Amino acid sequence: MSSKPNVLLIHTGGTIGMIRDHESGVLKPDLFYESLTRVVPELSDIADIQVEIPFAMDSSEFNASHWRQLGQLIKGKIDGIDGVVITHGTDTLAYTASALSYMLMNVPVPVILTGAQKPLSELRTDARTNFINSIELATRNIHEVCIFFDDKLMRGNRTIKSSIDHFDAFSSPNYPLLARVGIDVEIYRSNILQTSGLFHIFDSFDNSIAIYKSFPGCRDDYFQPPENIRAIVIISYGAGNIALQESQLLGRVEQWLAANKIVVIMSETKSGRMNPALYEAGNKLLKMGALHSGDMTFEASITKLMFLLGQYQDYAIIRKNFCTSLAGELTEN
Ligand code: ASP
Repeated sequence: MSSKPNVLLIHTGGTIGMIRDHESGVLKPDLFYESLTRVVPELSDIADIQVEIPFAMDSSEFNASHWRQLGQLIKGKIDGIDGVVITHGTDTLAYTASALSYMLMNVPVPVILTGAQKPLSELRTDARTNFINSIELATRNIHEVCIFFDDKLMRGNRTIKSSIDHFDAFSSPNYPLLARVGIDVEIYRSNILQTSGLFHIFDSFDNSIAIYKSFPGCRDDYFQPPENIRAIVIISYGAGNIALQESQLLGRVEQWLAANKIVVIMSETKSGRMNPALYEAGNKLLKMGALHSGDMTFEASITKLMFLLGQYQDYAIIRKNFCTSLAGELTEN
C-alpha cells in the first residue's frame, strides 16, 4: 500500500480546466483529468489523487444545489482522505468557500479551493502552481475551508476576488494569511481555526433575500422587495452610512421589521469593520433593529444569511447567529 497522503480532487469547472477554441478565441470546458496528468505529472510525487468531476461549468452558474453536491461528495469520502482540493472558477469561488465553511462543521481535513486566471493548457499559466501548491497544502494539518491563490493560503470565508486581471487575484482584507508559499511553505499556525467536536454537514439554504445598493440620489421606490422575501440587505457607504433625510427608507425599514423580516446593513467598502452607530442615519437603523455585517466580506455575509434562513424559521435565532462567528468569518467584539 502507498504511504502517500490521499487527496480528493473535485473539479467543478472554470478557467483552470478550459481550453481556448483557436478559431473563436473563446474558453470552453476541457477534459480536465487528461490535461492534468499530461501537464502536471509530478503531482503523483505529493499525493495519491482521486478525481471527481460532479459538474464542469462556469462558476457564475452555481447555486446552493452545487454547494450541496460538493458537501455531500466530501462527506461521502471523508473517512478515506487526508485532504480535499476543489478546482473552481474564480468568479464565485469566495461564495462557494464561504458556503462550505458553514456547511462542513468541524471538518477534520483541509478543504482547499483554487482556480486560475489562465487555463492549465496555456503558456504562462498560473493554474499549474496554484494547483500543485493546493495539493501540497491539502496534505498539511489545516482543518478548515481555505482558498489558495498565487502564493497565499487564506481563510475561505474571509476572501474576496479583488483583481480581474492579476495573478494575485484574491485577498483577505480583514484577516491575516493562513500560509504563504515561497521557497518554503510557511504556515501561520496561530491564524488557523481551532475546532473541536464532531464533523457534521448542514446543507439547507434559502435564497429569499433582496439586496439594494445605495448610490447618491437613488430613487426611493427602488427599495421594494417582493412579498416572500425574508431578508433585506442594504449596501451602504463606509462605516454603515446611508441617505435618510429626503427618503422614505426609514418608514420602509420599520414596515419590514414589523413584518418580521431581517434587515442587514452591509458596506460597499471592502476593508475594515462597520460601525453604523458612528453617524445619525446608521445609528437610527440599528436602534430600529437592523443588523450589520461587522468585518465580514459580502460573500461570507450573503451565504451566511442564506444558510441561516435555510436552517431556522425563528428570526431571533437567525439574528443571533448572524452576529456570531460560526466558522471564523467574523471578528466578534
Ligand atoms: N468565468 C470563470 C468562472 O468563474 C472565471 C474563472 O474561472 O476564472 O467560472
